[in-house]
Amino acid sequence: GAGTDEAPESRILVFVRLRPMSRKEKEAGSRSCVKIVNRKEVSLTEFSSENDYLRLKRVRDSQFCFDSVFPDSTTQAEVYSTSTADLVEGVLQGRNGTVFCYGATGAGKTYTMLGTMENPGVMVLAIHDLFSKVTQRNHSIKLSYLEIYNETVRDLLSPGSPLNLREDKQGTVAAGLTQRSVYSTDEVMELLQKGNKNRTTEPTLVNETSSRSHAVLQVAVEYRSLDGVNLKVGKLSLIDLAGSERALATDQRTQRSIEGANINRSLLALSSCINALVEGKKHIPYRNSKLTQLLKDSLGGSCNTVMIANISPSHLSFGETQNTLHWADRAKEI
Ligand code: ADP
Ligand code: MG
Repeated sequence: GAGTDEAPESRILVFVRLRPMSRKEKEAGSRSCVKIVNRKEVSLTEFSSENDYLRLKRVRDSQFCFDSVFPDSTTQAEVYSTSTADLVEGVLQGRNGTVFCYGATGAGKTYTMLGTMENPGVMVLAIHDLFSKVTQRNHSIKLSYLEIYNETVRDLLSPGSPLNLREDKQGTVAAGLTQRSVYSTDEVMELLQKGNKNRTTEPTLVNETSSRSHAVLQVAVEYRSLDGVNLKVGKLSLIDLAGSERALATDQRTQRSIEGANINRSLLALSSCINALVEGKKHIPYRNSKLTQLLKDSLGGSCNTVMIANISPSHLSFGETQNTLHWADRAKEI
């Protein structure tokens, strides 16, 4: 049994965010196949033909239940306060926290995480919140921002050669990664937008925003205790995952065909770790990918984890949405 002074057990919360129908989807004759039933339930409708709009027939509805579902009218601030604000509190007490956005390309991951100048996302709102809560002079906030693309780690704040992962006292670190001290929210948005421009895009898909890269923002909050000796650190990791479309239904494949089909190893390894954690397994396979190695001290144990599954309302994305909801459903604690 857990004593009162032990850290609480790890917690995984799963949210779903529906984005508004885009103009492109409307022009393509999209029909909505997603319905928000209530604050926790979403239903997905399958139509008989995904191609012939006039003959679409409702085949079946499936219902999913999560910690919260966000309708397309949900503001960035609401997403932040429901999903991530508690993790920020935890980080100030030295408890690591991690937030992922999962979903197909175009489903709204980057909008949720980074957002725009007018509507900043979770990354910016979290740091803003940290600034407002950290008033003592002995605190420091440091950012690092990296990408994992094809199992190669690169610094998004100062692009250059790939970085190696190393184990040290603070967990797994990317050797030589830029750690930026930041002092204002304005500075952060600019820094992250610049960093995002450095993300790798597919050379074969010039006009696609499709991305197989994971963007990992880590925010370390450090402070010295009054005697000036004891350094406490809480770490918040905010991750804009690669598009999930290539990871569809691949769990049973062999490692070789996964590589052949260019399936994202870090995404699969993350699924394995999350599933092992929710099933309460002793062995968590962190070593299977760069992403899971890097997050070893921020997933499981006494950490808080949040998953935001992003989906489009269009029936043209039915397959991707179904896969995302199934994936999110499996990430829930039993
Ligand atoms: P992803 O990162 O998953 O590929 P994006 O975040 O780039 O997807 O979103 C695709 C498009 O949809 C972008 O133009 C983005 O601005 C828009 N979008 C996504 N989510 C929302 C939202 N909640 N409200 C308004 N626009 C959104
Ligand atoms: Mg994106």
